[in-house]
Amino acid sequence: MENILIIGCGASGMAAAIHAAERTDRRVTVLERQARVGKKLSATGNGRCNLTNLEAADRNYHGEQPEFSAAVRAAYPPEQVLEFFAGLGLRTVTEYGGRVYPLSDSAGSVVDVLRLALEKENIEVLTGCAAESVQREAKGFAVKAGERILRADRLILACGGCAGSRLGGVMDGYDLANSLGHSRTALYPALTQLRTAPDYPRALKGIRADGRVRLLRGSTVLAERRGDVLFTDAGLSGTAVFEISRHAAGQSGLMAELCFFDEPEEALYADLLARRQRWGSLEANRILTGAAQSRLGQMLCKYAGISGGIPARALTDPQLRTLARAMGAFCLPVTGVSGFETAQVTAGGLRTAEFDPETLESRIVPGLYACGELLDVDGDCGGFNLQWAWASGLRAGELR
Ligand SMILES: Cc1cc2nc3c(=O)[nH]c(=O)nc-3n(C[C@H](O)[C@H](O)[C@H](O)COP(=O)(O)OP(=O)(O)OC[C@H]3O[C@@H](n4cnc5c(N)ncnc54)[C@H](O)[C@@H]3O)c2cc1C
Repeated sequence: MENILIIGCGASGMAAAIHAAERTDRRVTVLERQARVGKKLSATGNGRCNLTNLEAADRNYHGEQPEFSAAVRAAYPPEQVLEFFAGLGLRTVTEYGGRVYPLSDSAGSVVDVLRLALEKENIEVLTGCAAESVQREAKGFAVKAGERILRADRLILACGGCAGSRLGGVMDGYDLANSLGHSRTALYPALTQLRTAPDYPRALKGIRADGRVRLLRGSTVLAERRGDVLFTDAGLSGTAVFEISRHAAGQSGLMAELCFFDEPEEALYADLLARRQRWGSLEANRILTGAAQSRLGQMLCKYAGISGGIPARALTDPQLRTLARAMGAFCLPVTGVSGFETAQVTAGGLRTAEFDPETLESRIVPGLYACGELLDVDGDCGGFNLQWAWASGLRAGELR
């Protein structure tokens, strides 16, 4: 019987194990350093687990070799991943933008069906068991985990990346692969918060609004997204911000430009003139009452140099013009991005040129495979990263 060892029992490791064990002439052992399996998975999608996206396309994925992830994803598109989960008993629902969630609305259901599927005679899961080192042997591999030495004919690295370190993201996978001769690209946190100069965000903490966010260097737009923006005490969060954060990592001198009004400046200005006339006795810094959430409206006024204490009718045309401009471009200096602790995904990873996309087997070490976030593939926000984890895990689990 062939012995398969998988290091990491997260999303991709579980998919690989279940797939690999479908052939009963294989014995599959999965090592998990944390006390329980799927800890990160339980926290995904704010506890709802956005497990895939039916609109997944090449543009949603990043990495040094786009064609590598495209080949793997083509073998296991979202529909096939959903078939895999339906086979495990999971019922799902598709929401806006093709985002798929468990019908139960609980990430726990995804972990539960995977755990149940791992309860097979030829699968053994060892939790609280961290792989510390790996060596090639005449036939296969020897992995040291505490006092144990585990031997395997074939080895799958499914250790994930170093993002989400509070939920178990570590460097182990890169180090183990490196000890076997593999190299990696630079790593940086992606799908994370933007830190901004503290003047405004702190006062706006907790405000969530739909809008457009642009990342600017001078007048050059480096990235632009529409969607959810959330103000935190350190800066900006939310889906739209997550998606542009990869362009801010390691950069300086950038600005985040926010716009919560889907109208040209002239239309905003005309509306302000009408407001001044209609609600002239209102305190000037409340002129956006009903147009924006009150704290945001007052903050935009402050940004445009308009304070309270005078009636709206005292506002001059140039002041209203400045406010209209601020409504279309509320700019905050970006001071950095949040680190790996809070990032949802690691950009960069093991060099994909060193793996065969048809099998995910190493081109350097026969019998070694890698899958999931550990590889230099990362996706946008919206179920794309888990889609990659499942697709690559299933592919690696074929063990062709
Ligand atoms: C807060 C948060 C929310 C997210 N939400 C979403 C979402 O809704 N949709 C989406 O698509 N993506 C989401 N992601 C990203 C997604 O969770 C990851 O991309 C995905 O889990 C990666 O799968 P993986 O198998 O490669 O790694 P992981 O799921 O991280 O699994 C790797 C496992 O390997 C184990 N391990 C590491 N080293 C060792 C070792 N030496 N020995 C033994 N075990 C080891 C780890 O403990 C871990 O359990 C989210 C991430 C975070 C942090």
